[in-house]
Amino acid sequence: MAAQLIDGNALARQVRAEVATQVQALKAQGVVPALAVLLVGDDPASQVYVKHKVADCEGVGMRSILERLPASLSQETLLARIRELNVDATVHGILVQLPLPAQIDASQVIATISPAKDVDCFHVASVGALMVGLPGFKPCTPHGCMRMLQSAGVDPRGKHAVVVGRSNIVGKPMAMLLLQASATVTVCHSATPDLAAMTRQADILVAAVGKRNMITADMVKPGAVVIDVGMNRDTAGKLCGDVDFEGVREVAGWITPVPGGVGPMTRAMLLVNTMQAAQASLH
Ligand code: NDP
Repeated sequence: MAAQLIDGNALARQVRAEVATQVQALKAQGVVPALAVLLVGDDPASQVYVKHKVADCEGVGMRSILERLPASLSQETLLARIRELNVDATVHGILVQLPLPAQIDASQVIATISPAKDVDCFHVASVGALMVGLPGFKPCTPHGCMRMLQSAGVDPRGKHAVVVGRSNIVGKPMAMLLLQASATVTVCHSATPDLAAMTRQADILVAAVGKRNMITADMVKPGAVVIDVGMNRDTAGKLCGDVDFEGVREVAGWITPVPGGVGPMTRAMLLVNTMQAAQASLH
């Protein structure tokens, strides 16, 4: 029997509706949740991402402040702008779209964003809070994946979760959230000798590599939940994930599609974080 689909579009719609209700409640208290998005330069993919983020904010009634800054911008000018936004009480979230031009050190930029407004959850203080289980933002992509598991009624407790990929924005925080949910977690990466032997043990398999058809049906335990974070293009230029969807869906119990899976959930969780920041500003 083919796997059941975890529909990221439908779930993201639900999350956005929840956020929209919370936005109305905050507005009634005189607070308009606001996200500042800084785009430096004119990277085509970044332009698209930023456009979506702005539209998403508007869709739930939040304010978005899009600042398009020249590619030649100096690091100091960018940091100065971030410092202004840090102390602007009408702005609750600050997001600097990555990648940044070569003259700007992204780690300095991230370090300058106030942790209270770090809705991407990239600041070391946010990452540290996540690591030790203190309250704070959760990074959008892994948080979206956890919400997808929840929607499928999958409790990670006692399950073996295998995360393929160990990046700071996906693999590592994904492993941390699964661990916090009491899964037994294995993290695989490019130096893992027998990847298939690892993935075949997974009750929950998260693929976050960036290689098309990386995960094939023979690498998946029957009935497993397969979360595909990858975003790649096939030979026809069509968006696809890391998982061989057609093959794996015959083996897995649950599967997320690409497109229409983790991507829309990542966007929705940014709204959740901005909402969280705005709510926290009341206290
Ligand atoms: P990175 O390139 O930062 O990390 C990729 C990871 O995959 C690395 O840890 C790398 O290992 C590992 N890897 C590479 N080759 C292999 C291999 N042969 N076997 C096992 N592991 C391997 O990517 P990101 O984490 O930023 O993103 C991963 C994918 O997710 C990309 O396709 C990206 O576009 C997508 N993405 C999707 C999002 C969404 O909203 N849907 C959001 C963010 C990312 P090592 O560390 O050893 O090099």
